[in-house]
Amino acid sequence: MHMSDVIKRDSTTFSFEFFPPNSENGWNQLEATITELTQLGPSFVSVTYGAGGSTRTKTHDLVSRLKEREALDPVPHLTCVGHDHAEIHEILTRYAKAGISNILALRGDPPVEDSSEDPFKHFPYAADLIGSITEFNRSGAHPDPRGFSIGAAGFPEGHPETPNTLTQMDHLKRKIDAGVEWLCSQMFFDNRMFLDWQERCRLKGIDVPIFAGIMPVTSLAGLKRMAELAAGTNFPAPLLRALERAGPDPENIERVGIHWATEQCLQLMDEGVAGIHFYTLNRSNATIEIYKSLGVVDSEQLRGR
Ligand SMILES: Cc1cc2nc3c(=O)[nH]c(=O)nc-3n(C[C@H](O)[C@H](O)[C@H](O)COP(=O)(O)OP(=O)(O)OC[C@H]3O[C@@H](n4cnc5c(N)ncnc54)[C@H](O)[C@@H]3O)c2cc1C
Repeated sequence: MHMSDVIKRDSTTFSFEFFPPNSENGWNQLEATITELTQLGPSFVSVTYGAGGSTRTKTHDLVSRLKEREALDPVPHLTCVGHDHAEIHEILTRYAKAGISNILALRGDPPVEDSSEDPFKHFPYAADLIGSITEFNRSGAHPDPRGFSIGAAGFPEGHPETPNTLTQMDHLKRKIDAGVEWLCSQMFFDNRMFLDWQERCRLKGIDVPIFAGIMPVTSLAGLKRMAELAAGTNFPAPLLRALERAGPDPENIERVGIHWATEQCLQLMDEGVAGIHFYTLNRSNATIEIYKSLGVVDSEQLRGR
């Protein structure tokens, strides 16, 4: 379903991010997670795009599998790093033919391996990819006359490559002007950071729906990985204190993480956020627990509230 229709239908969207697994075990785990989370009736689910090579075709495989299930609306992520225009056109054509309505368009990060070719030669920034998708939409190559609904990433606590927050907002606005209809935020643990950034977006004239990225802490190792992945993210002292009090017991840690994320969701809903996007890490437990604590077990019950 085109994102503009999803947004019309769901007064608050609830969505989940998955990544394509690398092993048979991983696929089995993900299948179980998908079965459980399907019952929550998410507005859409998104699938990350790998750094290169075979991991990239896995995104397409997972998107196809999800599409076959019919109950879920998959939104592929697409990064332009290392791609040329012909490759992007081919990917878009394949998704259009498969009836995919939405794409989360990203730049991606340079590959860790040294390469002689500049990975940003063809698409220096996400805005350039977004421009290409908009052109594709205008060409009438998508069965829906509106074409793909394009989403982009936003960083409430800044992006490490652009320390100047005013300049960063200029870059974000450029993505909107290139054709973005919705934004999905980087994970955050301090709602004040998100709400302030959202207000700064509005002041800049960015008035598209913004989905808040929530990742519940489920382990201390996970917390460290998050700090690596989302450089610059603030972990508020009360969260760190609660985790310390929880001690080494993994169940206690997860309970604290779920509680914190639930409180975040409740406040964001009170603030009228357009949507909540859960970074699931292909697990279902934390997301289901949060749903239960929001007082619902099926997001359809939340729709229209
Ligand atoms: C919701 C979400 C989903 C993600 N999914 C994936 C995924 O599936 N796969 C993956 O590999 N990565 C993913 N990422 C990570 C993302 O690709 C990286 O964080 C990347 O560094 C930034 O991507 P972007 O699309 O925001 O890039 P851009 O919008 O291009 O921004 C990148 C940097 O360049 C700066 N910039 C932009 N335009 C200009 C300009 N004209 N001149 C100078 N500087 C400029 C920006 O301020 C920013 O610092 C995701 C991130 C988020 C928040």
